[in-house]
Amino acid sequence: MTNKLGSSNPNRIPKKTNHSKVQKLLAKSYSDKIKIITITNIGKIQFKKSKKAKRLSISIKDLSIINVSVPLYISFDIAEEFVYTKLAWITKNLKVLKNKTKLNNTDKELARGILSKRLDYLCEKYNFSYNKLSIRNQKTRWGSCSSKNNISLNAKLIHLPKKLIDYVILHELVHTNIKNHSKEFWDTLDLYISNSKSIGEKLKRYSL
Ligand SMILES: [Zn+2]
Repeated sequence: MTNKLGSSNPNRIPKKTNHSKVQKLLAKSYSDKIKIITITNIGKIQFKKSKKAKRLSISIKDLSIINVSVPLYISFDIAEEFVYTKLAWITKNLKVLKNKTKLNNTDKELARGILSKRLDYLCEKYNFSYNKLSIRNQKTRWGSCSSKNNISLNAKLIHLPKKLIDYVILHELVHTNIKNHSKEFWDTLDLYISNSKSIGEKLKRYSL
């Protein structure tokens, strides 16, 4: 997540700069290149001078520190002011990242307990069989079924409504018999879960 300062404020940021002078000053000490401040309820903000940066940009990739890349011609004071104007954006994105982190750290063993129980229940109920179950923390898919009928389920499924968990499990179980997404596949899946295709669409609203 990044937030860049556009060129909408030409008065505050000098366009012309003396780069060689700036660089000499920068070479003086490490502290000229980096400044770290702490903002209450937000945390540490690291400002870093960058030769490559053409504009101020805030990036939130990690909960421990927020990085602000500062072009050589912009002072730390102006960079700091910029950050203060973006606090609402920062807070919002920190929250999104916190939720993502929580989801990505979903306990695999806990998920295995819940999902394998449901998988085995549905197998018995509808007379399916599979080879091996693995629980993963994938970033791109909720589940998969290999040519050898090894089923893989995403640990994050346990945060979804029960109906969607069943949909993913039954989808993969039908793949143990039909390896594609043909009409036959969807018709078969409909026998176990009605309107399966529309439930599949609903699932797309839950981002991984
Ligand atoms: Zn499929």
